[in-house]
Amino acid sequence: MGHTEPGTRARSTHPNDGELSGGGSFARYMEHLSTAFAVTEGAEHRLVYANAAFRRLTGTAAPPIGRPIADSFVERHADGLVALLDRAFHGGGIARDRHLGTAGEQGPSWCCTVWPQVSLEGETEHLLIELREAPAEDLTLALQRDVAERMLLSALRERDLARDAEASSRRATFLAVEGRRLAGSLDEEATMRAVSGVSLPYSGDWSIVDILDADGAMHRLAVMHSDPATQKLLGRLEGRWTPALADAFGVPAMLRHARPTIIADRVDAVLAGASEDPELLRILHEVGAGALLTVPLVIREQLVGAITFVSGQRDRSYTSEDVELARDLATRSALALDSARLHGDAIALKVKAETASKAKSAFLGTMSHELRTPLNAIGGYVDLIDMGLRGPVSEAQHTDLARIRRNQRHLIALVTDVLNFVRLGSGQLAYEAADVVVHRVVAAAVALVEPLMLEKRLAHDGVQCDDTLVARADWERVMQILVNLFSNAIKFTPAGGRISIACSATDDTVLLRIADTGIGIPPSKLETIFEPFVQVREGLAGRDTGVGLGLAISRDLARGMGGDLRAESVEGKGSTFILSFPRAGLAAASAGG
Ligand code: ADP
Repeated sequence: MGHTEPGTRARSTHPNDGELSGGGSFARYMEHLSTAFAVTEGAEHRLVYANAAFRRLTGTAAPPIGRPIADSFVERHADGLVALLDRAFHGGGIARDRHLGTAGEQGPSWCCTVWPQVSLEGETEHLLIELREAPAEDLTLALQRDVAERMLLSALRERDLARDAEASSRRATFLAVEGRRLAGSLDEEATMRAVSGVSLPYSGDWSIVDILDADGAMHRLAVMHSDPATQKLLGRLEGRWTPALADAFGVPAMLRHARPTIIADRVDAVLAGASEDPELLRILHEVGAGALLTVPLVIREQLVGAITFVSGQRDRSYTSEDVELARDLATRSALALDSARLHGDAIALKVKAETASKAKSAFLGTMSHELRTPLNAIGGYVDLIDMGLRGPVSEAQHTDLARIRRNQRHLIALVTDVLNFVRLGSGQLAYEAADVVVHRVVAAAVALVEPLMLEKRLAHDGVQCDDTLVARADWERVMQILVNLFSNAIKFTPAGGRISIACSATDDTVLLRIADTGIGIPPSKLETIFEPFVQVREGLAGRDTGVGLGLAISRDLARGMGGDLRAESVEGKGSTFILSFPRAGLAAASAGG
């Protein structure tokens, strides 16, 4: 029996207990075989039959019929046998001449062959097991073969792993270099050029970059080859090779389905499309193409173009790894194009805004000039009449003339504000930085506005300033800021209120705090009041109100001198404006302003 194979995986007769162990001729035949032979059933390998030779070999006079076959084995054989039977039962294949036990162990070692018996439904039902005693040298050889086989397998696996690792490291390096090249510039044209140069890392390959406009027009942006001579040849195609809707590659193909497409057949004809231009056909044929791989360029779910990689070797197509790489390249290209476009848009917007702002400044500047001339003329004629040079003037007329005069001055002041602001914005204002004794400049400003405070019955604390404090600033500009801040304090503080000014300093900064007990500023407006034309109460139009430029000008002036201006306020209680300047070196403390 050991040499004549039983039924193997082919459908076999059911090894019926009765038939095998009973008096049938098959059973008698089995019983007298010199080869040890057993049959198990089910996944637990329950013994259903064991012939005399099997009983002899395993040393079990009464084999454990109905129990797992492992029970009739000594432990060192049992584990190996069960593992082998499990594999044969579940895997379904024949296990031939497998050794049980290990070399160098005491006692005989065994060699085992197992044939699974499969039912008509394809389920393994029984295992036929042949057992032989194996000579020691057989076992050693088998073990050596096992070890060699395992080592060989793991060496092969390692080689594959190493090859994979090397390939992915090469790929990562390539992508990193390409990524840097593509993202190298935010300029749209430079980025387009970078995208035109995209290629897969195979020498002799070339690429075609097509672009799809927002209005649906297709353009062939570039056809690039790494070899300069071939590039020159391909350069002759410019203008005569454009994407056509029926093309099977490039943007037209991606318009039909935006996913990578490989074409490996009749590539020359595919590239030429419907064109019959003999020069085009000749050049394409001369350059040669093995296969085409088109990947879409997609920006925010919009197809904006396609890159077609062309294999330069007639017999080389693209693998799934190439498709992945090409896809990565396309993604990076699309990202770079998107960033460049956004950047371009942002610059265009900025230029537009700047142009608009310049135009506005120019307009305001001209208007202010134009307004000042007639306003000055009005003032001049009012003076003429008021002095009686045009004839006698009644008391009532003097009063009216004074009113005209006040309004004319007010208008001139507003127009001057606008002019100042325009000059500031256009950088036309020059600062003459000098050492300014803070006490002096504050005293000068207070002297200017004192009559207004008296007129409105506002108290003030005098000038609380250490007279050794010196700032680095432009005297005229500091005056301008202070007068403006005092005017506001007077304007927004009801009669009977109080205005104060205090000075302090840190190592490098001089601080002036101009405080009032007026109507205050809501917290939400504390920053916006420094923007041009912003006023807290727009309805407060009247003779006294300005145009909302005073603070914008003051802050610009302060910052222009290296200082700053900010506000603090409690609504209904009062406001404090904090003006700062760089502190001058102490050696210059005696200098005047
Ligand atoms: P203008 O005084 O010409 O309106 P400003 O730029 O000087 O313009 O001031 C902007 C706005 O800030 C004022 O209209 C006013 O609402 C608010 N403001 C400025 N100073 C004070 C202050 N001391 N108290 C309350 N509100 C103020």
